[in-house]
Amino acid sequence: MRAEAAPQPPPGGLEPFASAGRGRGLRARRRYALGELLFSCPAYTAVLTVSERGGHCDGCFARKEGLSKCGRCKQAFYCNVECQKEDWPMHKLECSAMCAFGQSWNPSETVRLTARILAKQKAHPERTESEKWLAVKEFESHLDKLDNEKRELIQNDIAALHHFYSKHMEFPDNAVLVVLFAQVNCNGFTIEDEELSHLGSAIFPDVALMNHSCCPNVIVTYRGTLAEVRAVKEIEPGEEIFTSYIDLLYPTEDRNDRLRDSYFFNCDCRECITKEKDKEKLEIRKLNDPPSAEAVWDMIKYARNVIEEFRRAKHYKSPTELLEICELSLDKMGAVFEDSNVYMLHMMYQAMGVCLYMQDWEGALRYGQKIIRPYSKHYPSYSLNVASMWLKLGRLYMALENRTAGVKALKRAIAIMEVAHGKDHPYISEIKQELEDH
Ligand SMILES: [Zn+2]
Ligand SMILES: [Zn+2]
Ligand SMILES: [Zn+2]
Repeated sequence: MRAEAAPQPPPGGLEPFASAGRGRGLRARRRYALGELLFSCPAYTAVLTVSERGGHCDGCFARKEGLSKCGRCKQAFYCNVECQKEDWPMHKLECSAMCAFGQSWNPSETVRLTARILAKQKAHPERTESEKWLAVKEFESHLDKLDNEKRELIQNDIAALHHFYSKHMEFPDNAVLVVLFAQVNCNGFTIEDEELSHLGSAIFPDVALMNHSCCPNVIVTYRGTLAEVRAVKEIEPGEEIFTSYIDLLYPTEDRNDRLRDSYFFNCDCRECITKEKDKEKLEIRKLNDPPSAEAVWDMIKYARNVIEEFRRAKHYKSPTELLEICELSLDKMGAVFEDSNVYMLHMMYQAMGVCLYMQDWEGALRYGQKIIRPYSKHYPSYSLNVASMWLKLGRLYMALENRTAGVKALKRAIAIMEVAHGKDHPYISEIKQELEDH
């Protein structure tokens, strides 16, 4: 099944331009209303994440039951023969290799995506329909800014590419591959579902043309492997189009650490200059004997460390151990931070994820209920993080037979998604169906 695309807006409403201090960018030539589709971009190439195999079509990413298996490797799944045929030039890079390597077949998703880019470039050297404004070859690589650690990671990826893909591909020399991996690292997209679960990685060249702001005026959503860009604010002619590259929950310093590390720039948006939301994001408990500035600073450092520790622990610790890290850190931080503090919210969100994984619905709901209000305050008005939290809450309430609260939460999710995803998005039809079924 091909995901049905929303009707394309008339061309000419947007133009690439040289954005002062930001390199190239995209700007509006006319007015766009809230929720209006600016443009869509089919994936130049995409790869479904390994853990979603069987639940989504490897070709078009459609989510459905009863997909058919690739008869050779029995690891790729498709809607039908058309999807399978269309994906074969990409899947054949992995099909026989997965059989040959067995359990030891484990290239990273970046390596898988990069192999597909190389195959696509060879099969389709001319400009594609995904490259109206920006071609993959023109991607920024920031090669001169890579430190030794980043260069080493790229060399590991190149080694894995040779190891797992050499049977079906010829590779350009090392220097060319270093540039390509560097380009993928700062121009690649991850595709998520309506609850923000990771579905895969993809290249959307025209979408990559947009610059970043922490107060973005558009949001990117996905319909299968099609990226869609919609206005989440009214946009006037001449205005630059900004999307957000990062999670906007965190305070200015953390956001810019992340932007520098992954994209090599500092943001100069209004939010980064005024730091307006930082105080609320770092809310301190109001005690008779308030903590000293030093104690607060120590706790922020502790919070950043525990977030990093948890990120690593996810790969090898058991759910019970993970939940323990969350609870201990929440206890410790709770002596200084309010529940609405973003570091508290971060750990509650992780704890909620573990509860969902363990199918502890009551536990997940308790965390979700604490998260949603402060989330709505910290994030911009139209945020996929807020929508997905309402959605998770709504589905939990429904599962726990609290229909009144469930309906309310699902409607909150729909209200945001109608702007961000478009009223006709299949995710919205599914949620409306859930409302009817209950
Ligand atoms: Zn399909
Ligand atoms: Zn196969
Ligand atoms: Zn900013």
